[in-house]
Amino acid sequence: MKVLVAVKRVVDYNVKVRVKSDNSGVDIANVKMSMNPFDEIAMEEAVRLKEKGVVTEVIAVSCGVPQCTDTLRTAMAIGADRGILVETTEELQPLAVAKLLKALVDKEQPGLVILGKQAIDDDCNQTGQMLAALADLPQATFASKVDIAEGKAQITREVDGGSEYLSLSLPAIITTDLRLNAPRYVTLPNIMKAKKKPLDIVKPEDLGVNVSPRIKTLRVVEPPQRSAGTKVPDVATLVAKLKAEAKVI
Ligand code: AMP
Repeated sequence: MKVLVAVKRVVDYNVKVRVKSDNSGVDIANVKMSMNPFDEIAMEEAVRLKEKGVVTEVIAVSCGVPQCTDTLRTAMAIGADRGILVETTEELQPLAVAKLLKALVDKEQPGLVILGKQAIDDDCNQTGQMLAALADLPQATFASKVDIAEGKAQITREVDGGSEYLSLSLPAIITTDLRLNAPRYVTLPNIMKAKKKPLDIVKPEDLGVNVSPRIKTLRVVEPPQRSAGTKVPDVATLVAKLKAEAKVI
């Protein structure tokens, strides 16, 4: 069984992003870019399934600018067997990515597609769900445990107030939550090996997908500055302030 894993190149989670002076977006010039953390978890899970012998091939897919090849090489250093870059300089929104992934699902016929639950740059939390709808496949979002046996995926998913257990028939779409696993560190020998693994580059047109943005960003602004807090000597003063000043109780 093949597994397709979607890996997005995003601003590294340690970077404090700044809004561009013309308010047209976030300044990503000269900032460190990395694989979306939830996609690292997705890749780790796929590689673990391969190590267990459940999966035969792990394919990493990234959509975006040519530098996404770095993200794909990292995915291959974690353990993906090959990579596919859908190359475009167009701004990609979740629906466009879902359509590209759907075209690759049709082509590659994977038994499982694993995505992150959300990308930490746009925080959309939409692509996996849209892909499941477009491909008409069962989905389990926010997975914290994945077991594959006898053509089924047994999934534990994180929901408000606890866990939900689902049994999905394959092929299926899974999105990862933080607790699914702790991704391994990539080692230097694996980084070297990854350089030799196959990487295909296709364009959205080759997959018959129009990726033109459907949503227009009008303005991006910094959140308002928070005023400094005050220290209170005891609970009685806190309660008095909450009543008289904040007026919340
Ligand atoms: P989002 O819906 O944008 O929050 O993204 C959810 C997940 O979809 C991510 O964690 C990735 O697994 C996948 N994804 C989104 N955009 C891309 C992209 N440009 N390339 C590859 N995977 C993507």
